[in-house]
Amino acid sequence: MSLAENLETFQKVLEGTSCRLVAVSKTKPIAVLQDAYDLGIRVFGENKVQELTEKYEALPKDIEWHMIGHLQRNKVKYIVPFVALIHSVDSVRLLQEINKRAANVGRVVNCLLQVHIAQEKTKFGFDEAELETLLTEEALAAFTHVRLKGLMGMATNTDDPAQVRQEFRGLKTLFERCKAKANHYQNVDFTELSMGMSNDYTIALEEGSTLIRVGSSIFGARGY
Ligand SMILES: *Cc1c(COP(=O)(O)O)cnc(C)c1O
Repeated sequence: MSLAENLETFQKVLEGTSCRLVAVSKTKPIAVLQDAYDLGIRVFGENKVQELTEKYEALPKDIEWHMIGHLQRNKVKYIVPFVALIHSVDSVRLLQEINKRAANVGRVVNCLLQVHIAQEKTKFGFDEAELETLLTEEALAAFTHVRLKGLMGMATNTDDPAQVRQEFRGLKTLFERCKAKANHYQNVDFTELSMGMSNDYTIALEEGSTLIRVGSSIFGARGY
């Protein structure tokens, strides 16, 4: 399948839904991103700061750049001036650094809190109790230059669709609970639930995803 055909497929999949596509272009050369841009794609996701910055500099300025990978605090400053959404905020210390760097450049940076929903131990993210602690008026008052837009999660990498569905459903429930609790705080505006990748986006859509992050099903397999 060509890039154009793959993108058309996703356009059809998302038609009539309120879910958007994040085209995950990590490891792909700039020319390939330009092709996707020429086919209408405006939202790209990357997981490495240096690659994200290089691509931002080389490509048209109306692209929305999303950071989806684990973010080290010492690299926050490089993306804060332009990033549209950071999906992978996995600690309070990282959020503090984003807030500080955003204040320095006079921006309010949109962030998602990454939640640990998978069984694998290696995945980053908050658990429910940590979210509960963060989402209070007192704890959030210090974050004047971030806007919490919602949650992100990655399901267990498994062949069992029932398990994936259960994890996504749990994340959606948590999203609704956080929203009800915190949406009246001035730096909280929960509208985004980032879940679903190439192998599980169908289930994610059924469970209420608003942002699917799709790489290999659009651009083909990555040759690491
Ligand atoms: C690479 C990546 C994706 C996309 O994965 P595919 O299986 O290629 O669709 C989605 N989310 C995150 C966080 C990723 O690192």
